[in-house]
Amino acid sequence: PDLFQPERVNSKGFDLHHTPTLDKIDAARDAFRAHHWYAQPLLSGDASPEQDQPVTNPAQPQDRPGAIAPASTEDVELALNSAAPWQAPPAERSRILNTAADLYEAHFGELFALLAREAGKSLPDAVAELREAVDFLRYYAANIPDAEPAGVFTCISPWNFPLAIFTGQISAALATGNAVLAKPAPQTPLISHRAVQLLQEAGVPRDVLQLLPGGPSVGAALTSDPRVSGVAFTGSTATALKIRAAMADNLRPGTPLIAETGGLNAMIVDSTALPEQAVQSIIESAFQSAGQRCSALRCLYVQEDIADDLLTMLTGAMQALQVGDPWLISTDCGPVIDETARQGIADHVSNARVEGRVLKDTPIPPEGTFIAPTLIEIPGISALKREIFGPVLHVVRFKASEIDQVIADINATGYGLTFGLHTRIDDRVQHITEAVHAGNIYVNRNQIGAIVGSQPFGGEGLSGTGPKAGGPNYMTRFCAPDRQQSDE
Ligand code: GLU
Repeated sequence: PDLFQPERVNSKGFDLHHTPTLDKIDAARDAFRAHHWYAQPLLSGDASPEQDQPVTNPAQPQDRPGAIAPASTEDVELALNSAAPWQAPPAERSRILNTAADLYEAHFGELFALLAREAGKSLPDAVAELREAVDFLRYYAANIPDAEPAGVFTCISPWNFPLAIFTGQISAALATGNAVLAKPAPQTPLISHRAVQLLQEAGVPRDVLQLLPGGPSVGAALTSDPRVSGVAFTGSTATALKIRAAMADNLRPGTPLIAETGGLNAMIVDSTALPEQAVQSIIESAFQSAGQRCSALRCLYVQEDIADDLLTMLTGAMQALQVGDPWLISTDCGPVIDETARQGIADHVSNARVEGRVLKDTPIPPEGTFIAPTLIEIPGISALKREIFGPVLHVVRFKASEIDQVIADINATGYGLTFGLHTRIDDRVQHITEAVHAGNIYVNRNQIGAIVGSQPFGGEGLSGTGPKAGGPNYMTRFCAPDRQQSDE
């Protein structure tokens, strides 16, 4: 398929600098300010879920956006037994997925409210997320390969893109004609439940797409059952490795696992970079979505000659970031997803503080799971023993003569998701982008927010299996291997 598909256009989204647009969003969202949603298993038959549990708002401990009834063992069994590949011809599947995209767009107010209250997403993040979800639906609907579906696909999605990645996985699996068993992250079941309702309203049959909200036990049951013919997973590298082991023990050899996992993403800024452009890219890459993107910048390498000036500008820009309730349009940086996440990040920052390495942090609200955007100086990326999934940026100074060592250190992390480079020297662009191992490399811009259809997204090494989401090869992994290959 043509990567640029002239006949398909990405969603327009919303212009948040246009006051009438903002008023329209406010009016649509306000109806859901105090709404209470409910997420239960959506199966081909009647569910018998576990007891309800509250869903929390990470920005406001007293707000309860809804409740979740996790799938029981019987629910998982019912779903596995009844899962039926989608018999509708490709053109019909495509039509239904496009209808779902229209329904998502029509329900923007409710989806933005859910993204704020359940996932802590600022309005710009929510707008970007709805666009991406809609783009996935339309992109996969426009690129259905001429092949048989694998059969039954388990899709396990993360809380950091509870609408976009949830929708991306299931729409690729559905477009190719698979039955889908979807398990959303336990922190964000409400929006996935609403998304499945919209997909059903568009015409996806109930035995083709089933929703099984719940925790790790539901995920384990859905990735180790021989009735499953493939797994799409986005989340931590550690969980991906567990899933791979469970699949190897229980599923047919060769059953596909499409995993998109973590990163320790770096950016190099050399002395020829435009400082204003670099600082804006750094702020967006490290602190947008409160740093909770697997693509986010974690380790900034700044050439020594400009480091003092650049860091002065950067800390000034960090000072201006508004940290607070994502419902407010003025908010740049919302909360992290929950108390466990907050504690893990806060421990990392307090260790750095004890060591005297914190260069900057900013004020945060007294309640809610907020982390101040923080800048920490470290000697090199190898000092980071794990991905810190929040608004914490590490900075390293390097000398021009050390560039090859810097590249080697970045590659030595074993991850390879995103990489950013700011330089005005063409030869350097060529040398560095060829030498760094990363799935998505961005030059003289930020390193987040890959656009469906033009920037297929995915990493290598510990960061994922490929193929890249939102690109022309993604859907082939959801198809059955052709007979010749499997007979060999
Ligand atoms: N696709 C997203 C981006 O380009 C990141 C996805 C993720 O965090 O899992 O920023």
